[in-house]
Amino acid sequence: MEMLVYEIIRKKLDGERNSAEEIKQLVMGFVRGEIAPEQMSAWLAAVYIRGLSEEETWWLTDAMAKSGRTIDLSSIEGIKIDKHSTGGVGDKVSIVVVPLVAAAGVPVAKLTGRALGHTGGTADKLESIPGMRLNLSQEEFIAQVKSIGCAIAVATEDIAPADKKIYALRDKTATIASIPLIVSSILSKKLAGGADAFVFDVKFGDGAFMKGLDDARVLAEGLVRTAKLAGKRAVAVLSSMEQPLGHAIGNAVEVAEAINVLKGNGPEDVLELCLAVAAQMLWLGGAVTNPDEGRSKAMELLQSGAALEKFRQLVAAQGGDAKVVEDEKRLPQPSYRVEVRSEGSGTVVSIATRKLGLIAGRLGAVRMGVEQIDPSAGIIVLKKVGDFVKAGETLATIQSNKPIDSEILNETRECFALGEVAKRLQILAGFIG
Ligand code: URA
Repeated sequence: MEMLVYEIIRKKLDGERNSAEEIKQLVMGFVRGEIAPEQMSAWLAAVYIRGLSEEETWWLTDAMAKSGRTIDLSSIEGIKIDKHSTGGVGDKVSIVVVPLVAAAGVPVAKLTGRALGHTGGTADKLESIPGMRLNLSQEEFIAQVKSIGCAIAVATEDIAPADKKIYALRDKTATIASIPLIVSSILSKKLAGGADAFVFDVKFGDGAFMKGLDDARVLAEGLVRTAKLAGKRAVAVLSSMEQPLGHAIGNAVEVAEAINVLKGNGPEDVLELCLAVAAQMLWLGGAVTNPDEGRSKAMELLQSGAALEKFRQLVAAQGGDAKVVEDEKRLPQPSYRVEVRSEGSGTVVSIATRKLGLIAGRLGAVRMGVEQIDPSAGIIVLKKVGDFVKAGETLATIQSNKPIDSEILNETRECFALGEVAKRLQILAGFIG
């Protein structure tokens, strides 16, 4: 007997628990259009205030994961791994770790997203490689993981449709920042993707979704715990987004930087985070017996060129121009490049990371409305927290196919705060697993 929707909402408003059946009824009813947005909004607001138990979070995740198509990867041998980042500025880790881990024989089936707000999206970044296709069909996705060991595809509309509908409502009703709702949103999409084990890169800091480390830890614990309730192995890496990751922010510029990391020449923070994430993926995938061994193995795969070779295969398999590996000029180049010079001297004490992400978006790196993305647009951050700068020295380079006005230039300069002393920031803040 179906429970009245009214009663499901009342229970949550009064701080009572909902059952698995009730949550499923709510989610499915909403997806089918049988439950009104105002009813779903009331329930979401009640969850925002009252929270969800561990079990309720799992039931919600499960109902959302099953609200659309789920990908069956069981025909692929081995432990299939997926990796997810909660979003950041300059985050090109997936571009490095997917081929890196696959080079060790661990199958990686990665579903990915597009840029959202100030954070970039791996799909947009990889699409800056001429010819590269991210909209693989399910058959293509599976066949490619079987043939070369990895694939990166954009999640289609029919993957966890409940999340799309619920997220749109949360966005309008100020209920985004609820940890159980975030856990179910992220994990439902991952579960529908069909992998056996997950590594979550949960970011904290100005450029992240979660500003504080404590909140990021709670989110990481929620993701790992709920994934385990789903019968999956999972680990979370906590990483800093107090400054952009590496130097490049944008699309083609981030691909170029990721290629440098694969060649062993990338910035240290990107390398550190890639090794940490890859180590966990290799461990969960059974290629090594512990994450320390995973880190050494990941280093070895970078140094031997095996990871770079797998990246070439990945790009070619998805229709992209693999020669970008030898010649980054084959990536889209901007018509305009401007250097942002420091007005004063001092040490960089902080970088307004979220703001830099938004500026990169305005330069064209993020799709805005109907406007096409400019794959060449972005920012190269030359000075990071702890670096000394002299007046007149370049803080960053900004690039775009649109003329760059003085307002953007000044706003970029203002993102760099100078002071007396500042410690260099650590990229890693811990692991949950
Ligand atoms: N990312 C998601 O996919 N969902 C959320 O709710 C928040 C961040």
